[in-house]
Amino acid sequence: CFCQLQGQIDDCTCNVDTVDHFNNVKIYPRLRSLLQKDYFRFFKVNLFKKCPFWQDYNQCGIKYCHVEPCKENEVPKGLKEKDGKKIHGENKYMKSIDCDNEFNELGVINTTLSDQAVEDFLLWSAYDDAQDNFCLLEDFDDDSNYVDLLLNPERYTGYKGDAAHHIWQTIYRENCFRPNGQINSYIQSNGLNSMCLEERVFYRAISGLHASINIHVCVKYLLRESSFKNSNGEWGPNLDEFRKKFSPETTNGEGPNWLRNLYFLYLLELKALKKASPYLEKEEFYTGNDSEDWDTQLAIRDLLNIVKNFPHHFDETTMFIGHNQAIKLKQEFKQHFRNISSIMDCVGCEKCKLWGKLQIQGLGTALKILFSRKFDGLTLEDDSSEKSFQLLRSEIVALLNSIGRLSTSIYELDEFRFILR
Ligand code: FAD
Repeated sequence: CFCQLQGQIDDCTCNVDTVDHFNNVKIYPRLRSLLQKDYFRFFKVNLFKKCPFWQDYNQCGIKYCHVEPCKENEVPKGLKEKDGKKIHGENKYMKSIDCDNEFNELGVINTTLSDQAVEDFLLWSAYDDAQDNFCLLEDFDDDSNYVDLLLNPERYTGYKGDAAHHIWQTIYRENCFRPNGQINSYIQSNGLNSMCLEERVFYRAISGLHASINIHVCVKYLLRESSFKNSNGEWGPNLDEFRKKFSPETTNGEGPNWLRNLYFLYLLELKALKKASPYLEKEEFYTGNDSEDWDTQLAIRDLLNIVKNFPHHFDETTMFIGHNQAIKLKQEFKQHFRNISSIMDCVGCEKCKLWGKLQIQGLGTALKILFSRKFDGLTLEDDSSEKSFQLLRSEIVALLNSIGRLSTSIYELDEFRFILR
């Protein structure tokens, strides 16, 4: 089968087989149960932002595109408030504004400061953090709503044709670095040789995400519509669609390379998880339900232990080294990525937009962890309150769910191999 990939994953030191085994046996089952926890299943997102690039983007009217936001009483109280105080945007700096105990924990703040000085400090902290971000975060948007991810799974929605192509084309054409002289919107893999490592990484990450989304579309395909109004139809894997999207014959030889990019992205995000593990091991995963929160803490530590012991992690330390050129490249990388995060507001299908936004935010969080340098050299013994970084709950939720999506794609790819062998 064309999906039977072999050999080393490009720009990594690890084989496809190694990742398959590690993921399918160790990571996938753990993530699957972790992501059912309340902390991870509710994601706050703004699906009503205007597309900043063009006006007449088609809103898909298909019923499978629809996302049902949570009702007020469906979201665990602890995600919105703690000790009776509203959690503003879920930002820990903000959270500590009116809570003396947590204030002390920050350590770096002199608690005798005037209210104005404290507020200035918090604003600057938020500003500094925003400089590190690869995505535009929506936690403070009035139009943001909680969505239950388990009730709105990523699957076939019917979003395709020119509208979907336009989005992918814009992402590749306008926001990915181009190999010398290449003007087509979609990059041929042999053109990657003329790109530098950072540019290749960027392209592979986007292509890996594209491959992952399309695998989910093929695995959870609408096989038969139901004639009953409230029934959901019949869902399952669609082999023809999978072949059409990934076989060498229908993709000018590129399909298998796109599948390899999925593995690349998986390793990149996994490395970010490893790097953030001292921080995440201390996280409360607060939802207001003590026993659930405790279970979540145990489950995440178990997952992180396995991730930390994986011997073939992606090496990001060879990227952005050197002086002025590297700083400029990093700025460009960030700007391109922020543009892609804005393009998500132009996706005309709500469900695709939800998962597109979540996965772009997850990737953005991974890039922030890998490249903002605030996570460098962090150990469990460090007092994280002394460190000047923050991850919002939404970033943690997006990162873990994104890795969950990639992990599921790799697992599902194995099922396709089994069927097509
Ligand atoms: P497309 O996937 O639209 O690809 C367009 C072109 O891009 C291809 O012709 C090929 O030249 C190139 N290409 C394809 N794959 C890759 C790759 N991995 N790397 C590099 N180049 C590639 N549909 C759903 O049913 N459910 C969803 O949840 C969903 N979510 C989406 C989220 C986003 C952000 C976007 C933009 C689209 C989403 N879609 C979703 C639509 C889906 O991704 C496809 O666009 C659609 O199924 C049509 O597929 P296609 O085979 O025509 O090619």
